[in-house]
Amino acid sequence: MINASRLDPSVYPNSLYAIELQRSSPNLRFSPALEAPYVRAQLLHNRTLIRVACVLGALLAVLRGAEQAVESSWNGILLFDLGLVIVGSIALASIACSTAYERLYARWARIIVPARNAIAAAHIAQAAAYGQSEMLMVLPLTLIGPFFFQGFRFRAGFLSGLLAVVSFISFANYFDLAFPIALRSYAFLLLGLVACTIAARHLEKGSRTGFLESRLIEELAQHDALTGTKNRRVFDEYLVRLWQQALEDGRALAIVLIDVDHFKRYNDRYGHQAGDQALRRVAQSVQKLVRRPLDVLARYGGEEFAAILYDVDGQQAKEIAERIRRAVGELGIEHRGSRTSAGVTISVGVAVVEPTFDRNPRGALQLADQALYEAKVKGRNRVELMDEAEHQMLVTGVFSNESLPVGKRQAGKR
Ligand code: GH3
Ligand code: MG
Ligand code: MG
Repeated sequence: MINASRLDPSVYPNSLYAIELQRSSPNLRFSPALEAPYVRAQLLHNRTLIRVACVLGALLAVLRGAEQAVESSWNGILLFDLGLVIVGSIALASIACSTAYERLYARWARIIVPARNAIAAAHIAQAAAYGQSEMLMVLPLTLIGPFFFQGFRFRAGFLSGLLAVVSFISFANYFDLAFPIALRSYAFLLLGLVACTIAARHLEKGSRTGFLESRLIEELAQHDALTGTKNRRVFDEYLVRLWQQALEDGRALAIVLIDVDHFKRYNDRYGHQAGDQALRRVAQSVQKLVRRPLDVLARYGGEEFAAILYDVDGQQAKEIAERIRRAVGELGIEHRGSRTSAGVTISVGVAVVEPTFDRNPRGALQLADQALYEAKVKGRNRVELMDEAEHQMLVTGVFSNESLPVGKRQAGKR
């Protein structure tokens, strides 16, 4: 378990989960952006339990109806209230077991369960008053069901349980349930309501914390801790996925490699902490320009970032890369140690590729790396798109390590 008190949201400025963990809302409700995903996750997580509970509920109602029919003890009121319980239970079980579960269950359960249970409680009160005191054994189900088996939040479970208790007490009085039995039932029910409320609240608190923690861990595992961009593992996985998608859609991908110029000198002059801060600012300004739904930006290594732009041609990719380069320059981060400019600048290498079956994404990355190398050699603080000759190589040939010049990058270092 993550200790929420040790989490500093400023370390995860983009994480809603960390902020929510810190907030630890006493009324067990997340901010709207998280409440809906939480409710949905719970609904999916508890699907089997809910289905079983709904089917058993319907079975119980049908059996009781059959029993009454066999005993021919139907009368007008019984027919109406048991009929409602049976129809409601079957309807809910049908929704729970259908493909519309995710869409319809929560909405209808909120109406059907409290109404069905209140009617059932009234029916039990009547049956007990007419001598079937064993029916009281079913009464706890009208509490336990909504609290623990119907996928309700604790508050909805409480309201449904309270309605069943009020209904039972009212109808027990109405049908003159014998005093000692009534008193014991009321005490038992009210104690049960309190106990279920405490237990359900406790469970929901744990489930909410677990939800936030697991999502935060998932998020942390995907992001670079320093800059908040995606990390290299995610980038590599995403590249393979987007490559496949581009292949199916017949679209092009641009791979953009970004490297901060003379960054070692920046660290040497301003210190590592200032270097970290500069990297964060660079990442933020680049991220603002890599925003389209299928695009991704990741920290690829020390002071290097990599982006994938989906469905762009060479011209568009170069324009975006130019905008990125200008945006970083316009941050105006002083860099007196740079041999290129008075401020922090970046060099950008771009490769635009159309995936085919005989090409591979690693080769495409290598082409972008080659373009980055060209940008460095030609003076830094510039964008280089892979040149025509290299482009021919990817149009006609297979991306392979052998097909590219090797060792040039190292040679370009000064
Ligand atoms: P070039 O223009 O050729 O890219 O020169 P460079 O100095 O940027 O390249 P080099 O690869 O020699 O140095 C990269 C430097 O980036 C070295 C390292 O100190 C710095 N660096 C890498 N990761 C981090 C980091 O997380 N924080 C800080 N502050 N510096 C980092
Ligand atoms: Mg580098
Ligand atoms: Mg560098």
